[in-house]
Amino acid sequence: MELKSPTFSKRVPPGDQLERLVCDECGWVHYENPKIVVGAVATHEGRYLLCRRAIEPRKGKWTIPAGFLEEHETTEQGVLREAREEACVDLEIEGLLGVYNIAKVSQVQLLYMARLAGPDFACGEESFEVRRSDTQSSMEDSLEQFGDSGAGRREDADSDETRRSDGDGQGGAAIRRARSADAPRPPPPG
Ligand SMILES: [Zn+2]
Repeated sequence: MELKSPTFSKRVPPGDQLERLVCDECGWVHYENPKIVVGAVATHEGRYLLCRRAIEPRKGKWTIPAGFLEEHETTEQGVLREAREEACVDLEIEGLLGVYNIAKVSQVQLLYMARLAGPDFACGEESFEVRRSDTQSSMEDSLEQFGDSGAGRREDADSDETRRSDGDGQGGAAIRRARSADAPRPPPPG
C-alpha cells in the first residue's frame, strides 16, 4: 500500500480573511499562531542571574533564563523548567514583570520577577556559562532587544560569579524595567 502525503495550498478559507495552508484533499486548515516565550529576571542578594546561550538562536549571547512554553504547561511551570534547564536553579516566582509583544517574529513574551531559592547555580546543557551579575552597565550593554545584533560578552565581569561549562535578549530591557523606579510592581503572589 502506498501512503500519499497530503498537499496543501495557500488560500482563504470560507469565512476567513487571511490566507492559510489548506489541505487539498479534505479542506483541513493549518492555523499558525504566535508562540509564547516565558522567562525570569531572577535575583539573589541583589544580583541578576544570566546565562550565555549554547544553542541557536543567538548562540554565545547573554540572556535571562527563558524559552518557549511547552504544551500543557502553565507559564509559571515553564519559567521554573527553563531556569532548571539553563542554570540548574530553583526559582521562587514573585510576580509578573511584563508582557512583551514581539509582533515581527510572532512572539508574546511573559517575563516574571523571581528569586533564586538558594545560593547555588550551575551551567545547564543549553548554556555556555551562567553567572550572577551585579554590574548593571555591563548587563545593559550585553543584553539588548530580541532581533538586534548584539554585543557579546564583555570582559569586565567585576565581582560577578560565573559558572562555565566546557545572548542577547529581552533581558536587558526587562532588567532596566525591573530596576527603574517607575516600573509597575506586580502584586505579591498569593
Ligand atoms: Zn486532509
